[in-house]
Amino acid sequence: MTAQHIVSVSSQEEVADGLYVLRFRSEQIAQTSLPGQFVNIRTSDGFAPFLRRPFSISRVDGELVEILFNIVGAGTRLLAGSAGR
Ligand SMILES: Cc1cc2nc3c(=O)[nH]c(=O)nc-3n(C[C@H](O)[C@H](O)[C@H](O)COP(=O)(O)OP(=O)(O)OC[C@H]3O[C@@H](n4cnc5c(N)ncnc54)[C@H](O)[C@@H]3O)c2cc1C
Repeated sequence: MTAQHIVSVSSQEEVADGLYVLRFRSEQIAQTSLPGQFVNIRTSDGFAPFLRRPFSISRVDGELVEILFNIVGAGTRLLAGSAGR
């Protein structure tokens, strides 16, 4: 199923050098997520990076959805600065 949701970042922490755990709240994604699925995240409000970036869902806890990501380029650098958006 493809759907688009605007979510707020609930928390984000750097758990190792360049490795982040990010949690966002989404009842719809949490309720329909299955192991192995991923979310395509728009990492910026602007045009760059143009494409969404895929991240596997690592955990769902109630309405909270968690991803674990590593900084490799522009999109993940922006994502690492996304707390509070
Ligand atoms: C289905 C799927 C699920 C994914 N799940 C996760 C996840 O849970 N956690 C996570 O950290 N990453 C995950 N990735 C990888 C993640 O999507 C990329 O790291 C991310 O898109 C990089 O975006 P960027 O804008 O930071 O880097 P870009 O600017 O797009 O890339 C920077 C440089 O890194 C290279 N690069 C980009 N991605 C990769 C890669 N995966 N392997 C090797 N080189 C790469 C590019 O070719 C480029 O040279 C997943 C990818 C897919 C396809």
